[in-house]
Amino acid sequence: MTDAPSADCKGTPGRVVPVIDRNRCEAKADCVRVCPYGVFSIQTLTSEDRGTLSMRGRLKAFFHGGKQAYTPNSDHCHACGLCVSACPEGAITLAPLG
Ligand code: SF4
Repeated sequence: MTDAPSADCKGTPGRVVPVIDRNRCEAKADCVRVCPYGVFSIQTLTSEDRGTLSMRGRLKAFFHGGKQAYTPNSDHCHACGLCVSACPEGAITLAPLG
């Protein structure tokens, strides 16, 4: 059995949070568009996150204006999985909380 993504997800917030692979994200903003709960925004990479990038990740960041997806409203996540399916870079996973 699989947990298929669904726009009708009635999952309870606070069970999972989306985690973004900083070496994959290219700030294409599909996650911003598909998330029904406004979890994501595109922001300038923090210096801390920039410091974690691989050489390939740094190149990607350079070509995408130093921007990536962030999750300022991660506590609103209902675990529908739409962002995971929508990201063309496969950069998003859902991680259980607690
Ligand atoms: S799984 Fe992704 S699209 Fe669905 S509510 Fe959580 S952050 Fe938004």
